Amino acid sequence: MKYIRLIDNGMPVYGILDDGLIRIMKNTPFEGEPILSGSSIPLEETQLLPVVPFSKAVCIGLNYRDHAEEFGLPIPETPVVFLKPSTSACACGDKIIYPEMCHRLDYEAELAVVIGRKAKDVSEESALDYVLGYTIANDVTARDLQPKNGQWTIAKGFDTFMPIGPYISDEVDGAKLMITSRVNGETKQKSNTSNLIFTIPYLISYISHVMTLLPGDVISTGTPGGISGMQKGDTVEIEIEGLGILRNTIG
Ligand code: MG
Repeated sequence: MKYIRLIDNGMPVYGILDDGLIRIMKNTPFEGEPILSGSSIPLEETQLLPVVPFSKAVCIGLNYRDHAEEFGLPIPETPVVFLKPSTSACACGDKIIYPEMCHRLDYEAELAVVIGRKAKDVSEESALDYVLGYTIANDVTARDLQPKNGQWTIAKGFDTFMPIGPYISDEVDGAKLMITSRVNGETKQKSNTSNLIFTIPYLISYISHVMTLLPGDVISTGTPGGISGMQKGDTVEIEIEGLGILRNTIG
């Protein structure tokens, strides 16, 4: 199924995306089988929301070999983990705001894992049982602020720095998906999630031994090589096989 989140009659709701039509749900994907309201809306007439209102986005740095290499950094022996605040979320189609204090704004195409049920101390073998599905994230980064701060919270934590969507799918295998980013139509990153250094089950298990993962939390699995800057007015697209296109403009 493909779950999408939108405003319907002034309220945030989930729906099931089916061939360009959204069938509105009465519940959320975190509450069991979908209960349909009976109404539907064409996708193009909707105002999308960030596809999941996460309490935390747990992000992995340097999880593709070529991305570590482009910074001249060693391949990590344990996952590099940081958090993005809930207020960084924005929807497919929303504007990414170029902060005044930033002089180099980068995209980072990432596969995002959406946690479906509470996960604490889970094993690698059972980790995928806790996954609702997968979506696309853009780990937007104020690159020039990243080394200045010692930590990455400022560089990656601005409002709108976590576009997420357009939908969550439980129909794909996160371990082998083509991932591409484009700026104004020009391809910038092209890889496959099979190149992840730390696998999705490993990451879920590892993180759940540190912090409880709640339904709707997100693990963003890192970006491949090929990062570069964006300017105001640019359009950035991230495409992942089976997960559609996450498209935003810079404003
Ligand atoms: Mg990243």
